[in-house]
Amino acid sequence: MYSKPIDELIQAFSRLPSVGERTAERFVFYLLKSGKKDVAEMTLSLKNLIEEIKSCEVCWDFTDESPCSICADEKRDKSTICIVQEPQNLQAIEKTGDYNGLYHVLRGTLKPGHDLVPRYLKINELLSRVKKPETKEVILALNPDLNGETTMMFLEKRIKDTNPQVKVSRLARGLAMGSDLQYADEITLGSALKNRI
Ligand SMILES: [Zn+2]
Repeated sequence: MYSKPIDELIQAFSRLPSVGERTAERFVFYLLKSGKKDVAEMTLSLKNLIEEIKSCEVCWDFTDESPCSICADEKRDKSTICIVQEPQNLQAIEKTGDYNGLYHVLRGTLKPGHDLVPRYLKINELLSRVKKPETKEVILALNPDLNGETTMMFLEKRIKDTNPQVKVSRLARGLAMGSDLQYADEITLGSALKNRI
């Protein structure tokens, strides 16, 4: 049995994605051995994360200012919205340098077989952007896996119902089924975007 502060931090780390209890234990003992300066720096980073990062109220990316620098950029093409499921996917597309439109971060996906639409998904927020006459095209750029496909089919219908004038496109095939956009190489992702269907 560890003492309480050790145990509590192990539990806290265990809640992070892909971190099991063994890994959480390693993190805690690493921090204990690494000294006060490292721990203080990490504490400050966590504090800044909570205090300074907010949601962009246009695209729902995490940012230190709302609207974020992409939404506020006059040079971006406001007629196109690329929908991604997580902020990391937005960064992957930005890195290709092949896209100059806006984004919408959904913050997750639907799960096949579940009729309930989770409230944390930014779907109503998306539809109110789709309603605007300046929106001409929406690119569905969710991961090519079962959850992503289910969500894209659902969104396509909702977008068409909301604004039949809007063109709905998808990334070209070429991304492996079941892959995560975040890890796709820039050339493959860039060409999937340019050759969207
Ligand atoms: Zn934004």
